[in-house]
Amino acid sequence: MTVDPGVPVATVATPSIDNHPNRICDVCGVVDRGPRHQVGYTPGTVPVNVAQIKSVIANPDLTDDEKASISADIADTELQLRHMDCCTNVGCPDGSCDLIPNGMTQQEILTKIVTEPVQDQFIALQEAKNAAIIATTAAEGA
Ligand SMILES: [Zn+2]
Ligand SMILES: [Zn+2]
Repeated sequence: MTVDPGVPVATVATPSIDNHPNRICDVCGVVDRGPRHQVGYTPGTVPVNVAQIKSVIANPDLTDDEKASISADIADTELQLRHMDCCTNVGCPDGSCDLIPNGMTQQEILTKIVTEPVQDQFIALQEAKNAAIIATTAAEGA
């Protein structure tokens, strides 16, 4: 690969999924270190899955800090954390997860979204969606 010396090239180290926090997926219920699409709702919208919290607390592979933060995420009624492939399966609200091809491992998805230009597309899609939500919320509050 040749690089034009006049153009700065951002070098992004390929991230290791091992450095990412263990989190719940609110779609499939799996706890792992894969990237998540965080989908916001109005408070009280997302039901609290008590059985899921119990199984997290009982999981011997998680530290106490992990159990606390994962339980807090499950109990959060205005935020869903979704594996990006799970998000596509249930209908990604802004379409960003639809940019991830089927069948990738969580490490492959993380590498793709951090090191490829697809990152800019995600940000554009998610910012557009957020702007729409803010506009809607402002209109409802008026
Ligand atoms: Zn999932
Ligand atoms: Zn999504």
